[in-house]
Amino acid sequence: MPELPEVETIRRDLSKDLKGKKIKDVEVLNPKVIKEPKAAEFKRRLKGATFKQFLRRAKVLAIKLSTGEDLVVHLRMTGQLVYAGKREEKARVIFVLTDGKYLNFNDQRLFAELRLVSDWQSLKFVQGLGPEPLAKGFTAQKFKQLLEGKKTKIKPLLLDQTFIAGIGNLYAQEALFLSAILPTRAANQLKGAEIKRLHRAIQKVLQEGIQYHGSSIDNYVNGRGKKGSYQLRLKVYARKDEPCVKCRTKIQKINLGGRGTCFCPRCQK
Ligand SMILES: [Zn+2]
Repeated sequence: MPELPEVETIRRDLSKDLKGKKIKDVEVLNPKVIKEPKAAEFKRRLKGATFKQFLRRAKVLAIKLSTGEDLVVHLRMTGQLVYAGKREEKARVIFVLTDGKYLNFNDQRLFAELRLVSDWQSLKFVQGLGPEPLAKGFTAQKFKQLLEGKKTKIKPLLLDQTFIAGIGNLYAQEALFLSAILPTRAANQLKGAEIKRLHRAIQKVLQEGIQYHGSSIDNYVNGRGKKGSYQLRLKVYARKDEPCVKCRTKIQKINLGGRGTCFCPRCQK
């Protein structure tokens, strides 16, 4: 499932490849992925629009268009946005460009969402998002304040997009391993030094995720249809029963808030 580093990788790729390019036509193969407006209206308003700017907030991609409208892309579970020289067979929506190429919107499981709106920042789910973990304002001090009074377990809290934006199941597990904190710890019980370590670990795993162009565990590919390589660097995610990279203890897997969670029972406390 694409998280902050995967969506940021796609944003960077598309920004390089598509800025200034024009949409000649839109082919809607499955209207289910278009949340607003209706498919026919979506097509009509996008025809002739030029891509101006590619922005990201949490796991959401917002593309500013020459028409003044914003194309908002939420990839959810299996969404892909691939700029290619051909129409992809699995595409749900295809943006035909005037350069003779295509921006394919693929989504195997049909949970992804496309919206064409006048102002993406006024969307309710965007307004409800917590702080961006890689923004300058997200300091260890700010993180400490956010954790105060939170009695829930730290791992599910990190996945709560209204608490902190962009982190999903993979990067949360990696950040907790890196900071040597058990995923089951109560958030408001973390000590000052642990909060600092976790803050640093969150930023490190997200930055490395971007550096390695994301994790291709399931079907994630970047904006050019290529796999990322961060999956080769994972320390705990999907490593149940494999030896810990630090102490060789078997990695354990538990269920937390409905999500599989791997950790080292010796390194993480
Ligand atoms: Zn260990």
